[in-house]
Amino acid sequence: MITLLPGDGIGPEVTTAARTVLETIATKYGHRFSFKEHLIGGAAIDALGDPLPPDTIASCQDCDAVLLGAVGGPKWSDPNAAVRPEQGLLKLRTVLGVFANLRPVKVFEELVPASPLKAEILRGVDMIVVRELTGGIYFGDKTRDETSASDLCTYHAFEIERIVRVAAELAAGRRGHLCSVDKANVLETSRLWRDTTDSIIANEYPGIELETLLVDAAAMHLLSRPADFDVIVTENMFGDILTDEASMLAGSLGMLPSASLGESTRGLYEPIHGSAPDIAGKGLANPAAAIASSAMLLRHSLALEAEAVAIEAAIAAVIAAGGRTADIATAGDRVLSTSEFNKAVTEQLA
Ligand code: NAD
Repeated sequence: MITLLPGDGIGPEVTTAARTVLETIATKYGHRFSFKEHLIGGAAIDALGDPLPPDTIASCQDCDAVLLGAVGGPKWSDPNAAVRPEQGLLKLRTVLGVFANLRPVKVFEELVPASPLKAEILRGVDMIVVRELTGGIYFGDKTRDETSASDLCTYHAFEIERIVRVAAELAAGRRGHLCSVDKANVLETSRLWRDTTDSIIANEYPGIELETLLVDAAAMHLLSRPADFDVIVTENMFGDILTDEASMLAGSLGMLPSASLGESTRGLYEPIHGSAPDIAGKGLANPAAAIASSAMLLRHSLALEAEAVAIEAAIAAVIAAGGRTADIATAGDRVLSTSEFNKAVTEQLA
């Protein structure tokens, strides 16, 4: 059973697209997927006053995988509001115990002109950024008085070990190269990160080639030589910042999927973009990120690798044939609506 959380803004449009694609896969490969739809974010606040209602939590704990659209929007953005849509998403990640956030960044040759970066730098970019999602400075104790404030950053070795293993396993199935990003010249947590990573790779993954970069240098290398990266592993805040930077390589937020995984096979899958209130309800949203997130769901939660590859190949084929939503179109392209792009992918699959 798959729990669907459409959420706010373009969330319902892109999750509808992803569901249609999963239903096409079920028909083609003889599977039966059942879906249960629940409220999250602003839609849940409007209906029930709670961004993550108990029914939603129960369904997410009871299913094989969760597919989410996006949460938030101007209607709920008052910083002084008692409840905010984003609280629902943060709580959901904690409830599901998903500590590893996987963000693949792949540049399609045909979309190179859609990126602000030079073509020769973008060719061949194909990496996965693995961000630690439930530790570090975002979760540490916070203090504030009139003239000072502090945020505590803590990492335990076990948190580093498990995320490095996730990243190393991924690298072992790809080009065998792992880049660990830290700030070990300044931060004690980063020195623990580096020592732990070095020891896990040396003892458990001798075949993996490990590169270590300081986060400031990594930010620069991501733009100067992005095609060199295979798998990048890093802590929560560095990963948050570097993945948004890396998203610009692919040309549009609308292209990038993500998976958040924990100890079990149950995962949380969502496009990396937000609710895009500026284009919501207009049929302008690019559903590729949500559709590609459904491919990650099949791969990581249901062990359906061939089906996942089929979805990714269908997206690539539609783009190769000139299928473009507005965000990835360049002058002269015929622009497809959300549902037209979706239909092109399902027809390609069928
Ligand atoms: P956003 O990702 O929603 O939009 C940024 C820009 O990218 C907008 O111009 C938007 O139109 C465009 N865009 C995003 N997704 C697109 C798609 N699939 N196709 C075409 N264009 C797309 O970020 P924002 O504007 O900073 O945030 C809007 C709301 O979303 C805020 O309330 C924010 O808190 C929330 N948000 C939610 C999540 C999440 O649910 N995981 C993530 C980020 C932001």
